[in-house]
Amino acid sequence: MSIADNVRAIREQIARAAEKSGRGASDITLVAAAKMNDAARVREAIAAGVDAVGENRVQEMTQKLAEGAYTGAPLHFIGHLQTNKVREVVGKCGLIESVGSVRLLEAISARAATLGITQDVLIEVNIGGEESKSGVAPDELSQILEKAAAVSAVKVLGLMSIPPISDKNDANCNFFDKMFNLFIDIQGKKYDNVSMRYLSMGMSDSFCAAIEAGANMVRIGSSIFGARNYT
Ligand SMILES: *Cc1c(COP(=O)(O)O)cnc(C)c1O
Repeated sequence: MSIADNVRAIREQIARAAEKSGRGASDITLVAAAKMNDAARVREAIAAGVDAVGENRVQEMTQKLAEGAYTGAPLHFIGHLQTNKVREVVGKCGLIESVGSVRLLEAISARAATLGITQDVLIEVNIGGEESKSGVAPDELSQILEKAAAVSAVKVLGLMSIPPISDKNDANCNFFDKMFNLFIDIQGKKYDNVSMRYLSMGMSDSFCAAIEAGANMVRIGSSIFGARNYT
């Protein structure tokens, strides 16, 4: 299967899952998670019509940017971002999906202000409460969203989450439902400088369940590019 075949098949699954939750295929943003795939493969995915490309590592993204890998698609940062790497990402990505602390939010805003731009971001939520994962705890969410009013060079456009890995689909669904409830809750609260437009959750093995639970942005890697080779 080529990358184009994979994207076509995923689009069909996305359309079915979207319909089940009363939406259409065009309501769902497909982000190709491109880690460990080179510029040529990223270009193939863009040619196949993915809506955006997501990168995890600053160094890898910087290299592929220099190679012109992302021409034709918005670039998202989806990995763990250290505050000392902020200047390499702000202004280079349309959307930073993985903002998991007030400190990072402030650092991004400071850099964006220096550049004279507004940086769009999502707040990452550690919905499974895992020590190994970044993101704010659900009960810290209101605190970071209140801060958003004071950081004028960022705009918060939604939430992102990487729920715990589970063999049981039900367990995953439970986390997706929790995320959707938070998303709807915040929409009703109207924080300044926050608009809950995107709910980014679901990967290769879980995107249909995530969409059915209310996700409108999915990040898919191995189902588009094939298994990553870590050796
Ligand atoms: C790698 C990655 C994905 C995609 O994972 P697959 O299982 O390969 O689809 C999604 N989100 C993030 C943050 C990732 O790092």
